[in-house]
Amino acid sequence: MNSRQIAAALAALADQHRLRRRPVVDTPQGPHVVVDGVRYLAFASNDYLGLANHPALAEAMADGVARWGAGSGASHLVAGHHAAHEALEDELAVWLGLPAALTFGSGYSANLAVVTSLVGRGDAVFADRLNHASLNDACQLSRATFRRFAHNDLDHLERLLATTPAATRLIAVDAVYSMDGDEAPLDGLLTLAERYDAWLYLDDAHGFGVLGDGRGSLHEHPRLLGHPLVVYMATLGKAAGVAGACVAGSRELVDWLVNRARPYIYTTAQPPAVAEACRAALRVMAAEPARRARLAAHIVRLRRAADAKVWPLTASRTPIQPIIIGRNEAVLQCAARLREAGLWVPAIRPPTVPEGGARLRVSLTAAHEGADIDRLIDALDSIDWEEKP
Ligand SMILES: *Cc1c(COP(=O)(O)O)cnc(C)c1O
Repeated sequence: MNSRQIAAALAALADQHRLRRRPVVDTPQGPHVVVDGVRYLAFASNDYLGLANHPALAEAMADGVARWGAGSGASHLVAGHHAAHEALEDELAVWLGLPAALTFGSGYSANLAVVTSLVGRGDAVFADRLNHASLNDACQLSRATFRRFAHNDLDHLERLLATTPAATRLIAVDAVYSMDGDEAPLDGLLTLAERYDAWLYLDDAHGFGVLGDGRGSLHEHPRLLGHPLVVYMATLGKAAGVAGACVAGSRELVDWLVNRARPYIYTTAQPPAVAEACRAALRVMAAEPARRARLAAHIVRLRRAADAKVWPLTASRTPIQPIIIGRNEAVLQCAARLREAGLWVPAIRPPTVPEGGARLRVSLTAAHEGADIDRLIDALDSIDWEEKP
């Protein structure tokens, strides 16, 4: 694209109500934020346990800076792998109940690393249609045959597995779908993985810290835990409140990624202080189960209220409670109405969600009060849903 074409494309996006801009947040993350100079009650973050601004994490990061300095200085394989990274990996493996874990700077790079290290030309990847964009990019980058199956449709997946020739097969799914809040049928997926001798790769960005007593989605599906075909990925910037990601599985899998995964090898290690904050997050997740109980109570409170109303909530028992609206313009209007009432709820539009699937993405956190959920319920109630806003 030349610069004239870029200007025209930007104008077209604006016409379609698809132009993206970045709200500027001028407070720490939490239920009460100042966005573009205005104070809101927010239902917008992935900070599900309220850890992003937890004093124990902030202190661990500050102590980490005092001990290790600001930066890691190099990639993991050269000279940037500090004792803090090593300790975090050991503690993550114990928390997850898996033999080994490897940390990454982001979930995006972890997804690229795993998929491109396990499959390539002559292989095939099978991906749910609603997978996160980073998984789709990983599948494209791998050069394997890329087949997408209808959302949570095991029959469709099996037809594709049966008819796609491949040396190695990999099934990749989000364990919890980021824009719908529903979950993948993990046991059925494992049955198909076994039948077709395929890897089953789970992106648990939204389950880690929340489901399975905080240990993630695998802990609600014991057959998957430690299964030789299962590869697990969790991010550390959502419920864990910090940044980065980890991949967990067998020691051999981790050794293979260290040797083969370009998104792991050719990048600077995260600052060791970030690893220290992640270690503190694991300690808080273990010591404060009341955070998960509080979050669960908020989810029940919102869904009970919704049952008596006509808000089109998705079938979700996770902190992601989207309200599907449809048209881009309508969802922007709803979000604007909520902002007038002092509430920050993000409007999610294509291409993040399918065409015609624009939605309000309500997300709840343990840092909210019961009264905050009631304010949200009242504000949603003031929207005329029959009129299809
Ligand atoms: C956020 C997210 C990622 C990317 O993780 P980052 O650490 O933010 O790069 C990957 N997968 C899913 C499902 C996500 O929601």
